[in-house]
Amino acid sequence: MFGRSFPIARIAGVLVEVHPSWLLILAFLSWSLSDQVFPETNEGWSTATYWVVGTSAAVLLFVTVLVHEFAHAAVAIRRGLPVPKITLFIFGGVSHMSRQPRSAGEEFAIAAAGPATSFVIAAVTGLAGLAVGGSNEQAEAILYYLAGVNAVLGVFNLLPGFPLDGGRVLRSIAWRSTGSFRRATRIAASVGELFGYTLMGGGFLLALGGFVVQGLWFLFIGWFLTGAARGESQGMQLESILAGLFARDLMDETFPSVTPGLPVQAVVDDYMVGEGHRALMVANDGAVVGILSVNDVRRVPRAEWPNTPAQRVMTPRERIVSVDAATPAFDVLMLVSQKGLNQVPVLEEGRMVGLITRRHLLDRIQLAESLAPDVPTDTNE
Ligand SMILES: [Zn+2]
Repeated sequence: MFGRSFPIARIAGVLVEVHPSWLLILAFLSWSLSDQVFPETNEGWSTATYWVVGTSAAVLLFVTVLVHEFAHAAVAIRRGLPVPKITLFIFGGVSHMSRQPRSAGEEFAIAAAGPATSFVIAAVTGLAGLAVGGSNEQAEAILYYLAGVNAVLGVFNLLPGFPLDGGRVLRSIAWRSTGSFRRATRIAASVGELFGYTLMGGGFLLALGGFVVQGLWFLFIGWFLTGAARGESQGMQLESILAGLFARDLMDETFPSVTPGLPVQAVVDDYMVGEGHRALMVANDGAVVGILSVNDVRRVPRAEWPNTPAQRVMTPRERIVSVDAATPAFDVLMLVSQKGLNQVPVLEEGRMVGLITRRHLLDRIQLAESLAPDVPTDTNE
């Protein structure tokens, strides 16, 4: 949706990214606070004061949303689940965990930390507003605003839909009672989807009743929640299909290798066109020095193929992204898709023992998927 997120900071090892939609909301929020909200609640300030107060309130709201996300991240990290990044977007934020929680209790703790933090922020800023009182009207207005919005955020995030925290809280409860992460995800995703449709229906009725803007918001949030619920259950299916598979199960051990001095022309004729390989190891007496892929070859003008040694155009060993043989298959898939890799060498104790190609990986997933038991058979999307 509207382009890519961009990084703004790295805090405690977690990359903080902002989605362009958040900037739009920040601008809209600053404007509506400065031009509409505060002029109504606090009369008699100068235009400049409204804008300073409005913009400060919007930016501080941004900070409190970030604190909410860091609460999730802190609990996850303390429990040994890495959080590489946090993305702020139109509805707030998402903490990206590189792995699913391992128990219902863990999921509950991580999910509940966010709304709990929002409620604490609401209480603290509310009390601070009370303490400041009339002595500083501007600070009081900002504090009460933060208290109100954080209370709303806490409630909104407890709605039972993915990717909202409430969806995860619901899943953790279903997980504890069914004992199956997979079934719990399906239950939580269905509830989230149903909830999304309900919001859309409500939005439609609101719009018909004349509340067009509110109706559109409900429609939009509902549409977003149904999509997210479906995405979550698909991602989870993939993860459970790949459960129990590791890089060593996906690799090809008979990867061909060529010597560093072999001309590119010979590699193309004998291995690529000849045998259909898209990548070859370049090895010297069994020690891998690099990978030569079709993409590397394409960068060399055809006329130079006969006099260019493989070594000169290959991707050298130190620039190759590799995985350990014990890496879970799902992580390999994430790595391959995130980095756009066509092949990943598999290492065991520093030695290369196999090669996973993107094509081979996708074939394996398809095969595993077609043989997986307990996959829902309704294919209505
Ligand atoms: Zn949250």
